[in-house]
Amino acid sequence: MESVYRFPKITHVFEFRCRTCGEVHKGSPSIGYAKPAHYYSVPEAERAHRVLLTSDTCAIDNDTYFVRGVMEVPIRGVDAPFTWGIWVSLSHDNFQRYLHTFHEDQTGTVNFGWLPVTMRGYFDPTRARTWDMLATDVVGRGPGNRPLIVPHKCNHPLYRDYAQGMDWDRAVDIAERALHG
Ligand SMILES: [Zn+2]
Repeated sequence: MESVYRFPKITHVFEFRCRTCGEVHKGSPSIGYAKPAHYYSVPEAERAHRVLLTSDTCAIDNDTYFVRGVMEVPIRGVDAPFTWGIWVSLSHDNFQRYLHTFHEDQTGTVNFGWLPVTMRGYFDPTRARTWDMLATDVVGRGPGNRPLIVPHKCNHPLYRDYAQGMDWDRAVDIAERALHG
């Protein structure tokens, strides 16, 4: 059957009127977390001596190590992806190497990372602290760019969105929950 689309599909700028706050949110959502969720698992009074946090790295009890990266989930028919600023855990050795080469060009480096799926829209807040863990590649980039987080193939809804792209309505739904979660 002949395609209805005779011309290249036009891509759109994402925007929607939010059912939570009533505003129009313009542009593909970019939602970042300043701290890994595990940070909040440490009682507040103990954080000063148990947690070492920067804007890009977090070590807890000197045995759990996180780095902040970027996951880009395509929205179908939209020019820019839905972007998450999220934390993955690295092994001790890979974390140490990340720290020591932080200001260098990381292009070409790939580390294994575990991603706790703590983003609103992908986990049920009533099941707090039982996050799904996704295997990922943490792909280094040039100086000043946080690494890209690429999930390994699996059956998780986040992987499905990553691999197939979200449709517009799903992106709206996830954005509303994540922006106001
Ligand atoms: Zn809103």
